[in-house]
Amino acid sequence: MGRLQLNDLTKVFESDGSDIVAVNELNLDIEDGEFLVLVGPSGCGKSTTLRCIAGLEQASSGRILLDDRDITYAKPKEREMAMVFQNYALYPHMSVRKNIGYGLKITSDLSKEEIDERVEETAELLEIEELLEKEPGDLSGGQQQRVALGRAIIREPEVFLMDEPLSNLDAKLRTTMRTEIQQLQQDMDITTIYVTHDQTEAMTMGDRIAILDQGKLQQIGEPLECYHRPTNRFVAGFIGSPSMNFLSVQQSGQLLEHDEFSYRISEETRDALTESSRDLTLGIRPEHIRLTEGDTQNAVSTTIEVVEPMGEVTYAYFDIGDQTYTASIEGERRIQADEDVHVVFPEEKIHIFDGRTGEAIK
Ligand code: ATP
Repeated sequence: MGRLQLNDLTKVFESDGSDIVAVNELNLDIEDGEFLVLVGPSGCGKSTTLRCIAGLEQASSGRILLDDRDITYAKPKEREMAMVFQNYALYPHMSVRKNIGYGLKITSDLSKEEIDERVEETAELLEIEELLEKEPGDLSGGQQQRVALGRAIIREPEVFLMDEPLSNLDAKLRTTMRTEIQQLQQDMDITTIYVTHDQTEAMTMGDRIAILDQGKLQQIGEPLECYHRPTNRFVAGFIGSPSMNFLSVQQSGQLLEHDEFSYRISEETRDALTESSRDLTLGIRPEHIRLTEGDTQNAVSTTIEVVEPMGEVTYAYFDIGDQTYTASIEGERRIQADEDVHVVFPEEKIHIFDGRTGEAIK
């Protein structure tokens, strides 16, 4: 079993006489066997959360429960968790065999032969049997990462904690290891909390993702739910690549008025806005913008400034007023810099946020 609950977890650091609230009343309920990704920008409190769960930092307040057992103040080795770090944290002068077996040697009463057997099973699982007698310095980054995983796996923990484990690898290896970690987690069915600042990693790996900003939980949900129904402007801008475009508008009846254009909304959308302030933010993802030649309703005329062909899609940058926006155009349409176009934001794809609080309204 490995159900992990955080109840109002808070961590405050004192630095130069002032308080830094790194984690602010965080509530999470992670199911047994779930793969949860904690994601957010640098400094949002991801690592601190993970370190509190591991027992490497002590919570300032709140509780951490593992299968209903309160472990808030338990010692790290009493927590039945294994952590994989970004820098692998391998012992440089020990062989891979010793690195993988070391945790068991100091925490279990297994014999040398039993430990050796477990090391070999683990190495086989990770396909690193031929590396067992080498030292970390002789291994590539990807191989070192496998050894670090081996060291975590061999302990058969209730929970895996992974802190940016792939960020020292090159892009290609990162993609391969991403799939391998997912596969391993599914095969072993171990509750996993995976920290990253990379939204692509979050979107592709997590059963659910928890998005943090400034120590606070912004949204938790399945990746596509966070993409389609972000709860606020922060999540909307963080999830999705390239990022969502935002335009400041003011509501006036069935019109959203921008300095450069008016956008007509349906009665249904207008009705959804009755409770909100007149200052709104209109959000549209680059992949949902359409380019038309004709001047249809809600089309904004502009000029394409820069074109970036990426293969399957082309990114086209254009200005409205003094802001630059991005459209991501699929397929074969040839777009040229300096081309005059009309951009359309289809109403079924637009998001509307409260201009002051950033909360999602539609
Ligand atoms: P990154 O992706 O850059 O590692 P993060 O989201 O993991 O960022 P944390 O490392 O958890 O963020 O840091 C959260 C906040 O707490 C930051 O403002 C950081 O400066 C602060 N912080 C973290 N550890 C300490 C510490 N030991 N003492 C003082 N402040 C700290």
